[in-house]
Amino acid sequence: MPRFRKISEILRMMKDKTHVRNIGIIAHIDHGKTTMSDSLLAEAGLLSPTVAGEARALDYLEEEQKRGITIKTANISLLHEYEGEPYVINLIDTPGHVDFSGKVTRALRAIDGCLLLVDAVEEFMVMSEVRLRKALEERVKPILFINKVDRLIKELKLTPEKVQEKFVRIINQFNNLIETYGEPEYKDKWKARPAEGTVIFGSALHRWGFTIPMMQKKGLKFSDIVKYYKDGNLDELRELLPLHEAVLDVVVKHLPNPLEAQPFRIPKIWKGDLDSPIGQAMMKVDDDGPTVICVSKITFDPHAGVVSAGRIFSGTIKKGDEVYLVNAATKYKVPQVSIYMGPFREVVDEVPAGNFVALLGLDKCRAGETIVDAAYSDQMVPFEPMKYISEPVLTIAVEPKHPRDLPRLIEAMKRLSIEDPNLVATVNQETGEYLLSGMGELHLEIACKTIQRDFNIEIITSEPTVVYRETVRTSAGPFMGKSPNKHNKLWFTIEPLEEEVMKLISEGSLSDVLSAKARREVLVKKAGWSSREARDVITIDPNMNILIDCTTGVQYLREVREMIGAGFRWACEAGPLAEEPIRGIKVKLVDAQLHEDPVHRGPAQIMPATRQAIFAAFLSAKPTLLEPIYKIQVRVPPQHLGGVTSLITRKRGSVFKVEQRGPIVFVEGYIPVSETIGLASEMRSATSGTAFWQCTFSHWAPVPDSMLPDLIRKIRMRKGLKPEPPKAEQFIVRE
Ligand code: GDP
Repeated sequence: MPRFRKISEILRMMKDKTHVRNIGIIAHIDHGKTTMSDSLLAEAGLLSPTVAGEARALDYLEEEQKRGITIKTANISLLHEYEGEPYVINLIDTPGHVDFSGKVTRALRAIDGCLLLVDAVEEFMVMSEVRLRKALEERVKPILFINKVDRLIKELKLTPEKVQEKFVRIINQFNNLIETYGEPEYKDKWKARPAEGTVIFGSALHRWGFTIPMMQKKGLKFSDIVKYYKDGNLDELRELLPLHEAVLDVVVKHLPNPLEAQPFRIPKIWKGDLDSPIGQAMMKVDDDGPTVICVSKITFDPHAGVVSAGRIFSGTIKKGDEVYLVNAATKYKVPQVSIYMGPFREVVDEVPAGNFVALLGLDKCRAGETIVDAAYSDQMVPFEPMKYISEPVLTIAVEPKHPRDLPRLIEAMKRLSIEDPNLVATVNQETGEYLLSGMGELHLEIACKTIQRDFNIEIITSEPTVVYRETVRTSAGPFMGKSPNKHNKLWFTIEPLEEEVMKLISEGSLSDVLSAKARREVLVKKAGWSSREARDVITIDPNMNILIDCTTGVQYLREVREMIGAGFRWACEAGPLAEEPIRGIKVKLVDAQLHEDPVHRGPAQIMPATRQAIFAAFLSAKPTLLEPIYKIQVRVPPQHLGGVTSLITRKRGSVFKVEQRGPIVFVEGYIPVSETIGLASEMRSATSGTAFWQCTFSHWAPVPDSMLPDLIRKIRMRKGLKPEPPKAEQFIVRE
């Protein structure tokens, strides 16, 4: 089938939603997601008119590979003919970080079906299971693809019986998970049944694949495939059982189109009123309804800047439309609308509901954003409320193997941290190290793989270290801060911040974005503060710290307020114990004496005075470190339950739930992040490799006192600081 189509023809297909499929590939790391996308693109990539004349998609791929860059887009569109009809299949990239924050499933939100790739050699791994569960939670229909079957034949040289055993194990595992986590009414329909053609077997690398009915139709047996390998006739095998045909036939036949998927998925993934005009338009995939787009991925184009790719759930988006970004609370006039053809973007006039679109010029847009017709800005409930801050808990130092790559590495880290808000890139000022912080070992591993593969930079990484927080356990003060020129004095007290307030900050309901009046209201109504206390909040630090002005009648205070706020945030960025961020303090400015001449009360005077007094108070209020704690969930056969619980307890953790579901026991507990580095191998030996487990960030907890001094010393030395932390006296100044 010719893969070239006129734009007008493509848009016609997009309007007829029965000819559209929006899918994704999910897999454990290294199970072949990238290889599969590249192979499908090479065989079935929809060619755009601008490219078709000059080159085939494959040439483009080869060219890019020669130059060492792999295609990195949010979406690849494929063209496939099934029973004489052409279909557009949008393959949406599900970013590596999609599962790590527990709740964040933005890429899955945008697709209706997915291929779960499972490596035939390794079988089900942690992330195969986690991702499958997430897909089921979002009502995304999964199809199982057993990949790397060539390795069973060529490398492991397994007998057909052994191969069969492996397949059965993987299929059972898949079906068990659907039984446990699937929606009751779909459980049965979604199970993998080889005889019905809902499991695909193949090799993404060697580009062949089959389902059982396909084999039967072509009169082939598994032993025939083995023979092709023996004879070295891979090309023939590829022609006989082309990968894209196997995959895309199944996609068209067994995965839902937007008209089928949306009425079933919207009630689950969107919390607004289904009877409202917006709700109704989304349920019907209405081209004429209000525009609603859920952004699944942000990429940077060196020429075009921020590209926001997302799924249109209702309405038709056109160039020049007025839209509203719900999380960013910003209005835009859309400067350019484009669609993907193969891996390329083509500018178009408009794109209808049920499809994917790439919008340019929305520079405040981030993954997870909800875009809505500006006329509905006050009625839209977002798909995913933006969490104010993520809690990256592990850090690695990254350096390029070749020093000349350093500028590119910095650029790559910067981009990654914007594309994935859960990754934080920083520089250690003392040691000059480039640091990357993330949600866990696997998260960082994937980030490093992206740097190496997509940016083509060879890197060396350090062992991961845990991120801590500093906090206080009592109140203290007032303590005086004196400016370097001695002309200004500020007095502060400190106390632990209430849990309720921290919760409000972490939800995003309390921040400096709000007006002073709105902040006051939240504190009084939701946190139970007295209106006097809530009267004058100077600033709220997203790391859960708050600064309040409790003074009355201090002259010139208004002029230096901002500077006091900046001094406070500076103090909170790196605490005095070990230069880790401060968390959970309430600081009150109780008095001040300021110089009458503005020249003598600039930021260089006020900021250090503020920080110095806060540190004096902090160190006098029983300071300690907080360590991140994971919630750990383990699935294990009952005979290995003891191994799991004793491992968790030995690691300073605790088990709070043990539940038997069918032949499997589910264990839930808490475990300090610092104890989980290298946990994989210990878990394997404690359970003979039968446990599946996952860790997600749960909360911060004080480090046991017995460990505190050593830990502080260790962190300080790693950062190139003096081993002993400063004493309060070093920050206390007298009148
Ligand atoms: P991803 O992390 O899921 O994107 O995995 P990749 O696509 O990068 O694949 C990881 C490794 O497995 C690469 O070295 C691939 O060449 C290899 N690979 C992928 N699919 C196959 C396959 O079907 N057979 C074999 N033998 N290797 C494969």
